[in-house]
Amino acid sequence: MKVHLIIAHPENNSFNHALHQTAVQTFEANEISIGESDLYHINFSAVAGKKDSPNFPVDGTFQLAAAQRWAIENDDFETSIKIEQSKLDSADVLILQFPLWWWSFPAILKGWIDRVLTSGFAYGEKSRLGKKKVMYSITTGGAENEDERDYYKRKIDGLYHDVFGFIGWECLPPFIAHGVQRETEKVRETMLLNYRQHLIKNLL
Ligand code: FAD
Repeated sequence: MKVHLIIAHPENNSFNHALHQTAVQTFEANEISIGESDLYHINFSAVAGKKDSPNFPVDGTFQLAAAQRWAIENDDFETSIKIEQSKLDSADVLILQFPLWWWSFPAILKGWIDRVLTSGFAYGEKSRLGKKKVMYSITTGGAENEDERDYYKRKIDGLYHDVFGFIGWECLPPFIAHGVQRETEKVRETMLLNYRQHLIKNLL
């Protein structure tokens, strides 16, 4: 099994990076092969557009999905997209580590989804990428009670299934760390241990 880990947070000392490192250490300790994409570190561009397939012959109106299909057929994707797609090709499992921002992905991660999980590669009639397993590990601003936790769950289920359900991947149970900025150091340390257990239970 090979696991590819995406981390979308600008600060190396953040709790998101601590969760990411927990995953790295858990897989290494179990001799599982891993790959990583630290999206801020590689300064991944979030903006999908014409530059993604620079030689796409535009005849009339530009269409992103058509340009993506053409790029995969003609090996014309911009280098950062090619690199990310080849990392995915060799992975069996994808883990996305990110903070919930405006009930959604940070823009840099949304851009990775737009630009890497493309038509003709990850979905569509002639898609080339095999089906994988995927897991989200998300931090939030905080849920005060069970009702709020249910609300978060519905929102996160939507984010999950609208992307990876749509492209037919197996969506593993997400790990959600609520209110990480409000909690004590001790609670956060327990969250890291719980995440390790979550990975072991669902993947090892
Ligand atoms: P950090 O601030 O990096 O970390 C939290 C604490 O953990 C810090 O004290 C840090 O020092 C400590 N820490 C770091 N490493 C460790 C370690 N190894 N062990 C123990 N402690 C450690 N929330 C919502 O719920 N819904 C929203 O829609 C939403 N929208 C947002 C939009 C924006 C633009 C922003 C900026 C925030 C939003 N939030 C929202 C809140 C956001 O989800 C939280 O700020 C985020 O999840 C916190 O995660 P972090 O990694 O940035 O925390």
